[in-house]
Amino acid sequence: MENDERMKAVQALENALSRTDELFDSFSNVLKGDFKPASGQRRDFRETAEKLVPAPPEVEVANVEKAEEDERLHMSLEALIADSKTCKRCALCSTRKNVVFGTGCSDRPTVMVIGEGPGENEDIQGLPFVGRAGQYLDKWLAAISLSRDRNVYITNTVKCRPPQNRDPLPDEKESCFAYLKQQIAIIHPQAILCLGRPASTLMTGQTDASMGALRGRFFFFDGIPMICTYHPAAVLRDLNLKRPVWDDLKKLARYLSLPAGGS
Ligand code: URA
Repeated sequence: MENDERMKAVQALENALSRTDELFDSFSNVLKGDFKPASGQRRDFRETAEKLVPAPPEVEVANVEKAEEDERLHMSLEALIADSKTCKRCALCSTRKNVVFGTGCSDRPTVMVIGEGPGENEDIQGLPFVGRAGQYLDKWLAAISLSRDRNVYITNTVKCRPPQNRDPLPDEKESCFAYLKQQIAIIHPQAILCLGRPASTLMTGQTDASMGALRGRFFFFDGIPMICTYHPAAVLRDLNLKRPVWDDLKKLARYLSLPAGGS
């Protein structure tokens, strides 16, 4: 019961008791234990009415708190995006057309995908994974009942395009890691999927490990389960990587109890 509704019920009951009291004054020996004399002639029924009308249940208070928390988190994601637009923490700011912050479901998605860095199309459009590798990634996600429109958030280790699509340099990844960590804390995905070596080594902290050594294993990042696999662009170049990627995606799907089709 909402607080306003409760106060109306308390008022109505108080009035009813007051009227009843006038009618049944002779029963005062039974009822009067609860009543305090009020100013003037009438007795005060407020305490009795408050006792009889139930207080709002705890859960409704919790819902209000959750809504306030969601609003606060939303505000801080907006603030983080705004801050990234003017970022000059590394040299990539001088060649970017757009900061490519991220896209998809930003409210506790099932999976957050972390790629390497924006390419040419991403830099132009300001959105991650919009080129050929992105279309391929969308097929992988669909095969395990995921989509960027519904339950996936997609971002990269660096938010600005490295020139000629080279790998991001260690200092570029390091500068941008502050954004990525805050992004993860705010968006709070159920699981993380790292694509390719730059993302996998950064997120696991195993800087010298090969992709073969990192793929298909579960790690935890700030308590969030995380799995690594090959980058879709690498699979487009070498179709032998398709099978291990599918094995890794099935492992993630099983972990999250997601239906997995395809092969
Ligand atoms: N490759 C990536 O790693 N990220 C993108 O956004 C696009 C291609």
